[in-house]
Amino acid sequence: MTDMNETLNQWLRDAHAMEEQAEQMLKTQASRIESYPELASRIRQHLEETRSQRERLESCIERRGASSSSMKDMAARMSAMMQGMGAMMSGDEVMKGLLTSYAFEHFEVASYRILISAAEAVGDAETARVCEAICREEEAMASWLADHIPGVTQTYLSRESADLDEAKR
Ligand code: MG
Ligand code: FE
Repeated sequence: MTDMNETLNQWLRDAHAMEEQAEQMLKTQASRIESYPELASRIRQHLEETRSQRERLESCIERRGASSSSMKDMAARMSAMMQGMGAMMSGDEVMKGLLTSYAFEHFEVASYRILISAAEAVGDAETARVCEAICREEEAMASWLADHIPGVTQTYLSRESADLDEAKR
């Protein structure tokens, strides 16, 4: 196995850890935004996609004869990054989640673009094809979030000011 192939294996393992992190994050979010049903349902849909992405990556890693262990470092790094991103915004959970999700989807898109190029560089057409399919799902999620940021933000702001009026009475 050449060094280039070993690098691709490592990046696939990193992406696998990223999807495990995504799964945790989406699961948490889905359980906390009942008052935003449209957002909650899109997040549940992406949770299912994310589980399937993790499985598709496992198939690539297996087919390439690489082990999928030693993912703990990347998982820990991702988790620290997510916590940092969440802490940047002191608003409501739903807005923190929206901020983190939108950034995370773009992080995923960047990761898969790199994987596609690396897979092409070593002539692994099947891995490139799988990563292209996953990348399209991440782009679709990012663009759905972009389209819904205005509505969710307005709903959040109206609810917040209604709560304030309530408190004044
Ligand atoms: Mg993903
Ligand atoms: Fe995603």
